[in-house]
Amino acid sequence: MNTLAELLTNEPKYRLKQIQKAWFDLSLNSYEEITTLPVELREKLKNLPWLSVKLHTILKSKIDGTEKALLELSDGELIETVLMVRESLKENKEASKWPVEERHTICISSQVGCAMNCFFCATGKAGFKRNLTTEEIVDQYRFWQRRLTGHISNIVVMGQGEPLLNYDNLKNALNIILNNTEIGPTKITVSTCGIPEQMEKLLADKDFPQVCWAISLHSAIEETRKKIMPAHRKDFVKFLVDWSRRYHELIPSRTHFIGLEYLMLAGVNDDEKHRKALEKLANKIPRVKINLIPYNDTNSPGLSKTSQTVIDDWHDYLMKAGFVCTIRHSQGQDIAAACGQLCNRTTTDAVKNV
Ligand code: SAH
Repeated sequence: MNTLAELLTNEPKYRLKQIQKAWFDLSLNSYEEITTLPVELREKLKNLPWLSVKLHTILKSKIDGTEKALLELSDGELIETVLMVRESLKENKEASKWPVEERHTICISSQVGCAMNCFFCATGKAGFKRNLTTEEIVDQYRFWQRRLTGHISNIVVMGQGEPLLNYDNLKNALNIILNNTEIGPTKITVSTCGIPEQMEKLLADKDFPQVCWAISLHSAIEETRKKIMPAHRKDFVKFLVDWSRRYHELIPSRTHFIGLEYLMLAGVNDDEKHRKALEKLANKIPRVKINLIPYNDTNSPGLSKTSQTVIDDWHDYLMKAGFVCTIRHSQGQDIAAACGQLCNRTTTDAVKNV
C-alpha cells in the first residue's frame, strides 16, 4: 500500500497541514471523513489506517492507576507508551474552592528498542530495532487522546529509545503536536543520555521547538558515568556546562530549566565524592533542576537501589545548597511501566485489557 507521503506527492503542501489538523479532531475516524479535502483525494486516502499504531495489550497498575499500552506498528514491531494520572488542586477563585483537577502525563517512545546500552536500563538489553516514524510518534499522543476523557497536560519523551538519535522525526512530531493541540513547549520534556553533536545541532536549529530538556547524567564524575553508560562521550560534563550556558542565552525564559536526571545506585554513584561533584557541576549551570531517581529493578548484575535515607539526605543537602531538587516518584512499577523498565513485557500480575 502507498504511504501518505506517496499519495500526497502531487498535492499542494497545505494538504498535509489540513490532514495533520484533522488527526487531532476526535469526531473523525478516517481519511474519508476529512471534508476539507477534495473528494478525489479522500477516495485515494480512504484505505490508509487512521492510526499508525494498534493497541496490542494494556496493563493498569493496581497501585497508582498508571496505564502502560503496548502498541503494534504496521511491521509487527511493538513499542510502549505510558499514561500517568495525578490529581492536583486547581485554584478556582470565583467559587473560592479548590476542586481537584486530574493531570495526565504521557510518556512516549522515540525508537523501537534502544542502542545506548545503559547498564541499568531494560530497554537497551533488548537491542535496537529502528527509529519510529513521525506519525508513529504523533500517534502515541493520538492513541491516549482517544482513550482519555480529560486532556493531556504533559508529554515526556522518556519511553523507549534515544530521542536525539531520531532527530528529524522527533522534531516533526513535536511540531505537529504543538501546532494542533493546546499543549505548550514547556509542557514537553525530552530526556536524552546526551549526544553532543545532536545537542549542538538543536541549538542551531530554529525549527526545533523550545521544549524542556532533561539530561540523563547519573554521575558528574566521568569515570563512573562511562562505567554505567557506555554511550558516554569523553568530556561530556564539561561540554554540558558550555551547552547549558548557550541554551539559556538562546532561550532566556524563566520557565526553561535544564533538568539533571540522577539515578541513584548503591555503592556506584551515591557517596560524598559523587554528591560534591554533582553540586559543583550544578553550580555551573544556571536555572538547573536536579531530579534524583530511585533505581527501578531491571535485574542488572551488581546494581541495587540506594537506600531511601541516603536519597533523602542528598535531597535535603541539595535543597539547602539552593537547588531545585526533586525525588522522582516512579509510577507503574507493578506493570513494568516505570523508568528503565520498558522492554515490551506483558506478563505481570496487573489487570490486562482494562
Ligand atoms: N534515552 C533517553 C530516554 C529514555 S530513559 C535517556 O537516556 O534519557 C528515561 C529516564 O529513565 C532516563 O533518565 C534514564 O536514565 C532513566 N532510567 C533508565 N533505567 C532506569 C532504571 N532502571 N531505574 C530508574 N530510572 C531509569
